Amino acid sequence: MFKKFGLNAVYLAFEIEKSSLGLAFEAVRSLNMQGVNLTIPFKEEAVNFVDEIPEDLDRALGALNTIANRDGVLYGYNTDMRGFLFSLKEELSFNPEGKTALILGAGGAARAMAFGLAHARAERILIHNRTPERAAGLVDHLDKHFPETDIKGLDYLDGIKSENIHLVVNSTSLGLKENDESPIDLKILSGRPDVYDVIYSAHETALLKQAGQMGLKKVNGLGMLANQAALAFEIWTGKSGVREQMKALFS
Ligand code: NDP
Repeated sequence: MFKKFGLNAVYLAFEIEKSSLGLAFEAVRSLNMQGVNLTIPFKEEAVNFVDEIPEDLDRALGALNTIANRDGVLYGYNTDMRGFLFSLKEELSFNPEGKTALILGAGGAARAMAFGLAHARAERILIHNRTPERAAGLVDHLDKHFPETDIKGLDYLDGIKSENIHLVVNSTSLGLKENDESPIDLKILSGRPDVYDVIYSAHETALLKQAGQMGLKKVNGLGMLANQAALAFEIWTGKSGVREQMKALFS
């Protein structure tokens, strides 16, 4: 994308120790880097090292994946959440307003996706995670910011048949490996939900395979990945409307 726009810039990967995060932020400032993306496990802790989080929603979410350095002032953003919402709209034509979503997982991706769905006025969000305490923590966090949304943690999926689920979101890392099992048997649901899998690997996950066999609308996480990258690019460069070009690079 830098080449496409004729920008004198490079995008490089740095692997750092968790204990060095503060030093890494200082390096962004002292080396005058224009921006960085952060990934697991740094997104939450990053909020402690930026000077400003301009968007209320990003501040509430409490996890950053994009930093912009403007004259030595570090601004933090979360583009995962918006990338997910764009992907839902464009690839599944799904509007969360008034809908019920089942989120599988309660990690960083789940947090961004749940915030996105609540922000887009989903009526009910159910969260199920292998470690129920983590789901309960996410529910508490969301409840504080979206009192009008019905948000519930599910320790088990046993009673799920009585729910009218419109969207199933896999936000776990199950599916990364080709022989991973699906995080849910879609046949235990009563309706015909759309299925969003955060995994963007080249192979089709077991979840998406089953969704395909059942004729459900489904999509993998590549669109979210491309959209979050495009939004970060726009934040750093001031360019706009680059999502289609970024998506073309990812496909
Ligand atoms: P986290 O480590 O924060 O969370 C991992 C989640 O997966 C937890 O809910 C964890 O449950 C669950 N999990 C892991 N292994 C298993 C298992 N064997 N069985 C059931 N649940 C399991 O990671 P992230 O949330 O940051 O990332 C999750 C996935 O999303 C990754 O594969 C990542 O690549 C992808 N991702 C994709 C993005 C995109 O743009 N498409 C953006 C961000 C992430 P528990 O709490 O019990 O450990």
